[in-house]
Amino acid sequence: MSLTITQNSPAWKDARPVDANYVYDFDEPSEGGRALLGGKGIGLAEMTQMGVPVPAGFTITTDACRAFMRDGDLPAGLAEQVDEHVRRLEAKTGKSFGSTEDPLLVSVRSGAAISMPGMMDTILNLGMNDAAAEGLAARTGNPRFAYDSYRRLIQMFGETADGIDGHAFESALTALKKQRGVQLDTELTADDLRELIGTYKEIYRREIGSDFPTDAREQLLRSVRAVFRSWETPRAQVYRRAHDIADDLGTAVNVMQMVFGNKGDRSGTGVAFTRDPSTGASGVVGEYLANAQGEDVVAGIRTPQPLDAMREAMPDAYRQFIETAERLEAHYRDMQDVEFTVEDDKLYLLQTRAAKRTAAAALRAAVAMVDEGLITKEEAIRRIDPSQLDQLLHPMIDPKAKLEVAAKGLNASPGAASGGIVFDADSAVERSKNGPVVLVRWETTPDDIHGMIAAEGILTVHGGMTSHAAVVARGMGKPCVAGCEGLELRDGTATIGGTTLREGDVITIDGGTGTVYIGEVPLVPPQLNDDFETILGWADEARRLTVRTNADTPEDAARAREFGAQGIGLTRTEHMFFGEERLPVVQQMILAEDEAGRRAALDRLLPFQQSDFEGIFEAMAGLPVTIRLLDPPLHEFLPAEDQATDERMRQRIRSLHEANPMLGTRGCRLGLMYPEIYEMQIRAIARAARAVHERTGAAPLVEVMHPLVAFQEELKRLRALTEHVWAEEAPDVAHLVGTMIELPRAAMRADEIAEYADFFSFGTNDLTQTALGFSRDDAEGKFLTKYLQDGILQRNPFETLDASGVGDLMRIAVERGRSVKDGIKLGICGEHGGDPQSIAFCEEIGLDYVSCSPFRVPLARLAAAQAALAKAGTGEYVAAGG
Ligand code: PEP
Ligand code: MG
Repeated sequence: MSLTITQNSPAWKDARPVDANYVYDFDEPSEGGRALLGGKGIGLAEMTQMGVPVPAGFTITTDACRAFMRDGDLPAGLAEQVDEHVRRLEAKTGKSFGSTEDPLLVSVRSGAAISMPGMMDTILNLGMNDAAAEGLAARTGNPRFAYDSYRRLIQMFGETADGIDGHAFESALTALKKQRGVQLDTELTADDLRELIGTYKEIYRREIGSDFPTDAREQLLRSVRAVFRSWETPRAQVYRRAHDIADDLGTAVNVMQMVFGNKGDRSGTGVAFTRDPSTGASGVVGEYLANAQGEDVVAGIRTPQPLDAMREAMPDAYRQFIETAERLEAHYRDMQDVEFTVEDDKLYLLQTRAAKRTAAAALRAAVAMVDEGLITKEEAIRRIDPSQLDQLLHPMIDPKAKLEVAAKGLNASPGAASGGIVFDADSAVERSKNGPVVLVRWETTPDDIHGMIAAEGILTVHGGMTSHAAVVARGMGKPCVAGCEGLELRDGTATIGGTTLREGDVITIDGGTGTVYIGEVPLVPPQLNDDFETILGWADEARRLTVRTNADTPEDAARAREFGAQGIGLTRTEHMFFGEERLPVVQQMILAEDEAGRRAALDRLLPFQQSDFEGIFEAMAGLPVTIRLLDPPLHEFLPAEDQATDERMRQRIRSLHEANPMLGTRGCRLGLMYPEIYEMQIRAIARAARAVHERTGAAPLVEVMHPLVAFQEELKRLRALTEHVWAEEAPDVAHLVGTMIELPRAAMRADEIAEYADFFSFGTNDLTQTALGFSRDDAEGKFLTKYLQDGILQRNPFETLDASGVGDLMRIAVERGRSVKDGIKLGICGEHGGDPQSIAFCEEIGLDYVSCSPFRVPLARLAAAQAALAKAGTGEYVAAGG
């Protein structure tokens, strides 16, 4: 029965039904799916249903986590429900929780709806205490294993539930190994481990001021609380922000019977991928560690062996594992990342989830899966993350360069990166403000996440292909070399080969080959492969939006065309005013006393502009090219006042000073104040179009664009000027005249403006500034950072369109513009034109094209296809696991 609550009751919003069900067994149906059970929980439930060997257990829902976050404690009734499910687990396993004879031990693992690898906490071996360890030792005849499991519990519980610094435990372990003269944990005897338990308990008492809790139920409930709390740790928050994951999802908690990979030589643990996560090549690949528990592999504490080692050591379990992994891939119809444990030759799967993969692997696997008939082309398109394509468009080390390899490690995440070395995450953040850095660590932990975001690449001494550094770097698309044993870190220095390096010294890493070089190394542009072309070809068939590029030079235009741009959506002509030969002429023009003086300077600028335009028109032959007339305030072309070369210049600089240039004499206001400037530009455009037409026979479709229009009358006059000059210069060459929509008034009065416009291009950089009243330069790095940190805003509105505010203005402009001119061309050329979410919005409101920087063109092609498919409801994809 539910609580009776009324809207008048002050607590009505927060009250929960007392009989809410917060706990589900893995084999118990629930309707909440992934959002309720988390990725790991739903994966375990589905595997159980498929008959895959999974240890028994239950999931505490994300609802319980949300209630915990709200109230600061476990919701009413949860503890009793956990007790009930523990009883069921005891019945299933024939063991009892808290028993000293034959104890049931459980693990507690976090699992949010969206995978956050290594970000939250896990505690193993709950249910252990002094007596249980003795019981387990006697029962299994394996005291070493029993004590090893116990000492791990004290450490994990101490760290996770009570926040003890893990180094305290690690150094006790290291000291003991040193004392005994052994290298490996596995070389310690049962007696050694028993001694270690004593030391660990002392550490616990010293740090916490009370004894390590021996009651199994207390251990379990405190662990559940710890996992819920781990959702809100700074590292988890940073990760969520970097991956656009909502803060209020919460995590589920999975409680599972322990199976033991650390029981001896017939046991082990591993992580595998159903295809290679670096290249996408078919076939299971993975890593395996004999006589170990899972955390040893994931945390990169011991460097594991390739999966083949398992084939030799335990062929039956190996065969069964490969078959199961293949079944899981076929079931989820996607590449899986699987964790498993073998206990005395018996295989258990602990987790399955969609594998994090590099962009190259994502493309390879998607194309292969379409060929294998596993997925459709539409599904293939929808499961590639557009922002990941960036990885493939970055430079790589010149294969022809003769280079001296300083060290080799594992090729954990491809791509090349050069930068000054830093040895910790905070320094990475600090130093990256002044140039690229490479983060060099013994191994990374989730606490390093902010440094990994700031660094260009990551290099670790330790850890394998599934270590934290490797997994996270692949997810971020950053180069990573892991397990580089030729590298020594000591006292703030790194020694590679015979060379000792200090913070700031430059190295280069190649995560595709696992090589490390000292110094900077020549890079070459990326090579696009067949898979890339195939997927983008499919995307082109699926999309409705045209993709153009923002380009100011013939080189940019040509590159963008290679990437598939279908025209230019924005050429910023002011960039052409800055060349060495031009700037002095531009300055003369600005400093001139009168119109005649200005015209004289403009006459000298015209040939420069014309030749620039000719280059661009040739690169874009046959495609539309939008050229925007001068936009920035004139003072941007003059030096600072104290650098003026004479008094007249100083005075002019002073007279051009504006309190707020973003809202000052710029855009079309310049064209109306000094028509001769726009006249020269229009003349140069028209002459260039005509010359290219005559020379090549293929004229581009020229679109002359007037910036920052607010009033119909502005565009009316500027259109008249444009048509007048065009008729003089190129009467036979087709052209359009249009405007940017970058002021709220222009959006609101789009119907009036459309009467004089053949096209609108949304300048969402300025439209965002003016609609929000945010000056971009004053917002980013200042209050906007705080807004994002505090959750006042979820996203940076200069990166992802503020769809409800700025987007509404766009919607109004589209509607009103089309109401007077049905066929008016509509596009976007602000930065948002290259952002996948904003592209989806452009699809929704029915724009004709998006325009973005050349390197983002492939991404925009894919995002536009995904937007079209999403709108049509085709090819939807939900990744497995968590
Ligand atoms: C815009 O405002 O969105 C735009 C493209 O113009 P700019 O960034 O040059 O101001
Ligand atoms: Mg603008």
